[in-house]
Amino acid sequence: MKKDKYNIAILGATGLVGREMIEILQEREFPVNNLFLLASEHSAGELIQFRGTDYAVEPVSEDYFKLHNIDIVLSSPGAAASSKYSPIAAKEGAVVIDNTSFFRMDKDIPLIVPEVNPEDIKYFSNKNIIANPNCSTIQMLVPLKPIHDKYKIKRIVVSTYQSTSGAGKKAIDELFYETVDILNSKGEASPEKFPVQIAFNCIPQIDVFSENGYTKEEIKMVDETHKIFHDENIGICATAVRVPVMFCHGESINIETENNFDIKDIQLLLSNAKGVKIIDDIFSDNADERYPYQTMVSGSDDVYVGRIRRDLSIKNGMNLWVVADNVRKGAALNAVQIAEILIDNYI
Ligand code: NAP
Repeated sequence: MKKDKYNIAILGATGLVGREMIEILQEREFPVNNLFLLASEHSAGELIQFRGTDYAVEPVSEDYFKLHNIDIVLSSPGAAASSKYSPIAAKEGAVVIDNTSFFRMDKDIPLIVPEVNPEDIKYFSNKNIIANPNCSTIQMLVPLKPIHDKYKIKRIVVSTYQSTSGAGKKAIDELFYETVDILNSKGEASPEKFPVQIAFNCIPQIDVFSENGYTKEEIKMVDETHKIFHDENIGICATAVRVPVMFCHGESINIETENNFDIKDIQLLLSNAKGVKIIDDIFSDNADERYPYQTMVSGSDDVYVGRIRRDLSIKNGMNLWVVADNVRKGAALNAVQIAEILIDNYI
């Protein structure tokens, strides 16, 4: 029988994504019965508010899930911790919605963007785990879905402009302190989260390089798109760049389609697409109506699209500029939307 309320655990509750998930459960009035906040030993006892009550963070352990009757785990403790704890939680009967990269390409585990392939959620019962895609993949596929459905995408060339929050809370601090130290002439930067100084730089490397010359982040965008669209034939070339911005990723996306289109119809399609907001009045006197940018989009649920224009160099080509809040739609919100579909339809 369907429950009225669910026992929810947030694994990685003290991180950027975990904290945002707690906020979003609250905002969207998710039917929470008991809430369990889990992280490493390091933050045990830390208090986080949910609906006006303080909850103490507990250290996750292998036994934890056996001892508590958890329905859904919203997981974001990094790939190593998730690979260890998610299967244990799933075995004890919880459905895990995981934000890390660990399970995404497992063929038995659905990889879900609710606006794109909600029908795949039904495969959750294969392993009791659902994977959330990479933040850059999510914001690319939300606007591309209606274009692919109508005009069939042949090829995508994407360059990302990814904020430091995409690498977690310590990465935001690294940008902040490097910037302050450099402006105060306090010597050389000593980067830890990024390969070189991020302050005042754009770094064309996110994650490690592979033999083929692409980074793992770039390869994720390719493989995850093929899996979510169920279409291995789309050619995808990605360049992922970290920029000295704290929140929201930007993407310049060039698309070639099989079928010819009228650019006005692309604008219409996107203006009716779920989860998409268009800001594209380039000659407006009001700067906020011309195109989306990071501080405009921060804290929003939608994927913002602007600069919608024909690629004049090929027959069926177009360009888009896409901005979304990576911690929100790129991670926490996407996971909570999956949980909503799960409780409405399956558990
Ligand atoms: P973060 O701010 O660094 O937070 C990491 C969280 O994981 C903290 O709560 C940390 O707890 C916890 N943790 C680390 N090691 C643990 C362990 N061994 N056992 C239990 N908990 C552990 O990182 P984040 O930005 O929230 O990202 C978390 C995950 O989501 C990563 O896998 C990331 O790739 C993925 N993701 C992030 C984004 C984004 O935009 N940030 C987008 C999509 C996906 P302590 O505080 O106790 O150390």
